[in-house]
Amino acid sequence: ENQIKKLHVAILPSPFMGHLIPQFQFAKHLAILHNFQVTFFLLSTDSSSAQSQFLLHSQTLPDGLHFHHLPPLDISPFVSDSTEIQSRASIIIRESTPHIKSAIADIIPPNIFVFDFLATDAFEIADELGIPKYIFFTSPATVLPFMMYLPTLDRQIPGEFIDLKEPVRVPGCKPIPIDDLIDPVRNRKTGSYKWFLYHASRFPLVNGIFVNTCQDLEPTVLRSLREDPILRQIATPRVYPVGPLIKLDKPSSSSENLKMEYLTWLDMQPCDSVLFISFGSGGTLSAEQMTELAWGLELSQQRFIWVARKPFEVDMAAARTFFSVGAEHNNFAAYLPDGFLSRIKGLGLVIQSWAPQAEILSHSSIGGFLTHCGWNSMLESIYNGVPMIAWPLFAEQWGNATMLTEELRVAVKAGVKREKGSVVRREEIERVVRLVMAEGEEMKILRNRVKELQQNVIKSVDEDGSSYNELSEVAKEWKSNISGSDFSMNS
Ligand code: UDP
Repeated sequence: ENQIKKLHVAILPSPFMGHLIPQFQFAKHLAILHNFQVTFFLLSTDSSSAQSQFLLHSQTLPDGLHFHHLPPLDISPFVSDSTEIQSRASIIIRESTPHIKSAIADIIPPNIFVFDFLATDAFEIADELGIPKYIFFTSPATVLPFMMYLPTLDRQIPGEFIDLKEPVRVPGCKPIPIDDLIDPVRNRKTGSYKWFLYHASRFPLVNGIFVNTCQDLEPTVLRSLREDPILRQIATPRVYPVGPLIKLDKPSSSSENLKMEYLTWLDMQPCDSVLFISFGSGGTLSAEQMTELAWGLELSQQRFIWVARKPFEVDMAAARTFFSVGAEHNNFAAYLPDGFLSRIKGLGLVIQSWAPQAEILSHSSIGGFLTHCGWNSMLESIYNGVPMIAWPLFAEQWGNATMLTEELRVAVKAGVKREKGSVVRREEIERVVRLVMAEGEEMKILRNRVKELQQNVIKSVDEDGSSYNELSEVAKEWKSNISGSDFSMNS
């Protein structure tokens, strides 16, 4: 009876690695720094259970944080082969909602519910409990004004957004070039668009939106989200920049990972000399593009580690799963040039499918990152002071690439075109790799700028930094609003 009751936060992620990873970090922060009880729901479908396994095996859970596995789900009646992944995720959440409700009936009910932004269909869980609900947004804050304004754009603009002659005007942010529009709105006839519009229209219903960003990365848009009169009219909930929340635990010397071939190899390379190449948890290239990339790397004669996933022609089914994390059969001979692996021996490594990216980026030998510009990848790179080569593929990555190259100026563009079937040639790849990796004026400027940004970004999540304080404030508010003295205040 004397035990102090902890405030209980439930978190419902969606089944993407790029959402699960930062949301799990968020859960850890709440449990460790703010002494909350946290229930982290894990959805279970064929492909997403592989992800839960990944999370389970790669992490030790702090006190107070629990996984809750939802029963396996069969969504086949609601999807076809052409159903896009955002729709799939939304459908999985919808179908899981009754299971989450019955799970909650069996545990201590949560006091706060945090939803992934594709999980707005499950808001009724919080409403039935009469508890506050929040969104954890895994893309940059720059996308938020667009999301908030999408229902208005949907009413105002006939036809396709991509047919507009001018950039899209949205209150609170710079006009958005058509090429930078996020994927789900590029074809308004798709299920993805309808789901996106639905989720966007539900953003104003929450008490607050947590964003994995910080003041130093997006000062202007964060101010607009607080102050822009039109956005205020849409009833934009308060936005809390609490990031970058990334995997910070450094491996211990006994860590399994240290035994991995590439980490041993990295230890032997000069400081800042290795280019890391990865297209995130789901990005794939065409076989032709992979061949060009291999040639470009070889021509550049710079050290590299390339996490190579199967080319997309080989595995169209991959587009329907939630970004695999396990080893998959990957036949290098099908797309790497003849003799490539033996010619690059000593210079570079090619890894199958998945590598501990945050850990690799924190290695002192890494001096550049060729990235698909997923938001987590960008944050991890900046957090580790690594300049980038921007190679956007899908989702909001085209806008992210613009932010990296034109606003933050810590990356150079790889010259990727958004048209289907366009290929970046080896000469261009050689050029940008040399630009970022080989001694030169450009490289020095990039490196200095990213190191400066790194300092500020690290400060924001350190004790008394802006992001740290945002989360502490919310935590305090929660503790004082909810049954006051009943809850532990000792953090
Ligand atoms: N990731 C990883 N190893 C890989 C590929 C990805 O650890 O081989 C992690 C990466 O560190 C990041 C997340 O998966 O935290 C990918 O998120 P991001 O937003 O960059 O891209 P997405 O996968 O959502 O496209």
